[in-house]
Amino acid sequence: MMKFRSLASNVEIGANSYLLTLGETRVLLDAGMHPKQEGTNALPEFGSIDYNSIDAAILSHAHLDHSGALPVMQRSQPDMPVFMSAPTRVLTDALLHNSVNVMNYKREQTGNTDYPLFTHREIGQAHKKWHAPKSGHTFHLDRSGSTTCSFHESGHVLGAVSPIIRSGGRNILYSGDVHFEDQTIVKGAVLPESGIDVLILECTRGGVARPAEYSRHSEAKRLASSIEQCLSGRGSVMIPLFAMGKTQEIITLLHEQQRQGNLRSMAFHIGGLSIKMTGIYDRFTSRVRRNHKGMHMMRTKGLITTPGRRGELPPLDGSNIYALSSGMMSERTMSNRLGRQFIQNPRNLLVSVGYADPESPLASILNSKHGEEIQVDARHASVERNCSMETFDFSGHAPRENLVEYVETLKPEMTILVHGDQPAVDWMKQELETRVPETEVIIATPGREIHIG
Ligand SMILES: [Zn+2]
Ligand SMILES: [Zn+2]
Repeated sequence: MMKFRSLASNVEIGANSYLLTLGETRVLLDAGMHPKQEGTNALPEFGSIDYNSIDAAILSHAHLDHSGALPVMQRSQPDMPVFMSAPTRVLTDALLHNSVNVMNYKREQTGNTDYPLFTHREIGQAHKKWHAPKSGHTFHLDRSGSTTCSFHESGHVLGAVSPIIRSGGRNILYSGDVHFEDQTIVKGAVLPESGIDVLILECTRGGVARPAEYSRHSEAKRLASSIEQCLSGRGSVMIPLFAMGKTQEIITLLHEQQRQGNLRSMAFHIGGLSIKMTGIYDRFTSRVRRNHKGMHMMRTKGLITTPGRRGELPPLDGSNIYALSSGMMSERTMSNRLGRQFIQNPRNLLVSVGYADPESPLASILNSKHGEEIQVDARHASVERNCSMETFDFSGHAPRENLVEYVETLKPEMTILVHGDQPAVDWMKQELETRVPETEVIIATPGREIHIG
């Protein structure tokens, strides 16, 4: 008897965590923290899982919506080994330690006594159980050796993998977060094209069609020319970015544009956690399959790591690029705090390169009219948005057209849809039922046990 159950609390991109029951063996896929919920509400539904009852956990990649609750889960599963790629092990360790700092700060600011959900010391304990199998190797997930696993690159960010789990003659592929196309640094996914019975598939971009004329190459040139135009008018450019993944992709993309002569040399600022994450990307620069192999971002001309002290902001003056986190300009982050001054200057350009949650400060800025007063942080007075704005698509997730094409090629017996808002999974289900009638399509409704073999 084989079963799949989502431990998320809703159909959405929230706290990703899934439980596979494969006969006697139980395997956990990811243990994420919900990016928008607070306190224990941000955790997956771990309550129903018995003490020390899981044989192994697999971490697809380091982003907190997949890894952020791992120390909490390991607390009740002290013997459980956790498997991940070598870069993911380093990135996750750094992200979780930073997460403790953020939680401590939140407790101080908001009085939420749920925080911190775990401590630095607990991460140290948990880390002892983290294993990074050699890439390309098959390893055991249980003592009897009846369930095995192998990792396959999934694109998306450094270290991201799609595991294939083999048990009782069934092959189960979990996509994790996947992108089939090359990005500036990270190369596209390398996934099997046959031999999979059950596919667990992310649907982040299932709700939106990508324009047919899209190309990453022309998008990069368009970004370079917008930056050039802004700097020529003595303005500055701010690009709110996630500290891990998007920051490194954009730094390298701008560097590439400079080398092609599309962009002048200039100062660009990164800060806080982004500095740490960029350093880790550099550590693996020659050890992974990637573009710009051997390049050290921290040594690129013009890169300024700023500021030295916690809480300090980089100086705001003309002709700079501010590549600051957080990616959605969340309150109490660098991009939010500098952004409050930044958006008032009509010479400046605010650039959005990824997903902006409708409730995020970034979305409220992007939706504002020129000259409109907006509240970027609830604790501060509203400010006038006078800067110009532009949006670009440099997503690290596969567009829905490519997801459907992949299922069409793979033709698994069953496709389980995860990691998408309701409209996204609904579109995917309908499209797949029409285009790939051979596969049974199931939306992973939280709590529901799905029989997979
Ligand atoms: Zn991710
Ligand atoms: Zn994700």
